[in-house]
Amino acid sequence: MEILHVGAECYPIAKVGGLADVIGALPKYQNNAEHNVSVAIPCYQTTFRLKNDFECIHTGKLKLGHFKFPYSVQKETSNKLGFELYLIEIPELFDRPNIYNYKDDIERFLSFQIAVLDWISERSLIPDIIHCHDHHTGLIPFMKKYCPKYEKLKNMPAIITIHNGIYQGVFTFNKLYYLPEFDLINIKELEWNNCINSLASAVKCADEITTVSTSYLNEINYSDNGLETLLQRVRHKSRGILNGIDLDIWDPENDPMLETNYSINTVNEGKQKNKEQLCSLFNMNPAKPLFSFIGRLFNEKGADLLPKVIVSALTAYKDNINFLILGYGDIEIENQLKQLREIYNYNYHVHIGYNEELAHKTYAGSDFILIPSRIEPCGLNQMYAMRYGTIPIVRRTGGLKDTITDFEDDGNGICHDQASVEDIYDTIDRAIHLYLNKDAIGTIRIKGMQTNHSWTNVSQEYLELYNLIIAKRHEN
Ligand code: ADP
Repeated sequence: MEILHVGAECYPIAKVGGLADVIGALPKYQNNAEHNVSVAIPCYQTTFRLKNDFECIHTGKLKLGHFKFPYSVQKETSNKLGFELYLIEIPELFDRPNIYNYKDDIERFLSFQIAVLDWISERSLIPDIIHCHDHHTGLIPFMKKYCPKYEKLKNMPAIITIHNGIYQGVFTFNKLYYLPEFDLINIKELEWNNCINSLASAVKCADEITTVSTSYLNEINYSDNGLETLLQRVRHKSRGILNGIDLDIWDPENDPMLETNYSINTVNEGKQKNKEQLCSLFNMNPAKPLFSFIGRLFNEKGADLLPKVIVSALTAYKDNINFLILGYGDIEIENQLKQLREIYNYNYHVHIGYNEELAHKTYAGSDFILIPSRIEPCGLNQMYAMRYGTIPIVRRTGGLKDTITDFEDDGNGICHDQASVEDIYDTIDRAIHLYLNKDAIGTIRIKGMQTNHSWTNVSQEYLELYNLIIAKRHEN
């Protein structure tokens, strides 16, 4: 099978969050003698682009309404990622350091999608399946289905995976002219709440919809992301497939980013050494339990609750607890977290920014990882934490609910129901008691490390789904 994944991020080329980890790993696990798997993402101004060899395999000029942008398709030549990587180079729109948050993001990602379709419609080999990820690729199913320009791709099955349904790629009909020509009778397939909604359009036009956990699928059918009634209507073609993790990259035994590697047999000593190394960076006492948070600092992640939780816990436990925060996002949350440093400077540290190496060191050196998300489609942090013998403290939502049960119910973590300071504080209190019981904490650590969240089985599930879609298309 010829499989093409299309998305905005891919580890290690361009990463903001879990989307990159998925697009950087799933294709690798799908790629074997039977399947040829490739990935197309925009060509950002990244060190990966500068430090690796690429061959230009296609050039063209894409049309976005009356704007014209030259583009090229750059193929990575070493194949060291375990799949074929194609960077879609549109210099005017993507030759910038960041992935998102430019005021022309709609134009950028629509151009990217048009370039992908232009390119593959000119290829002799059409993919057997196009796997779109999130709203940045959400108009591909519509365009290939309804734009005569892509007639050749009309029967190519498309699947959309929703990694995060909050972001939907919404824009007004004033920009309708950006899209290649299509019969206006089909305009409804683009529309949601009187706007063009890229994610809603993908949900309407794709052959199948997947979300990255079953609980998240159930939640978005009823929660207030705005698409609930639409998602209920397409329930027959939706399913939740829990993400996996790349066990080659996330492996405490061989992780090159750690100073001290460890396995399940050496977890207690190994983690203590990593904790000492991590704490020494921030002037913390490694004899105390270390609670960390890694992630985007937004309300959706419950990050707004962290300042109050930290103050409550440091007030109650004084010098007997450490906190480390790694993340960036909402300026107000960043500022509140930075201000706490003025009060607590030897048992609290915040690192504002993105730092892959520090993330690995933090998974290895922490005792507990806080994941108080209000919304968590899957969550990879809890899986990485468990792989590194760190105990996840999670709010029961989405993928967190599907992967973590409370240790008091013989589970692998600590859980709370509300995204509130009180509930989180309560779990910290329980965690500290657990920390004092070395046998109990050792058992949970090992349970976590033994949990298998490899992509091996998950990638099979996707392949079965692709086959099903292809078979259905042949039937019709
Ligand atoms: P989301 O995709 O919603 O941000 P996930 O839990 O699915 O959340 O994935 C988060 C990924 O991003 C993990 O690999 C995590 O380690 C990484 N990450 C998040 N914030 C940072 C940061 N500031 N520095 C390094 N890695 C980060």
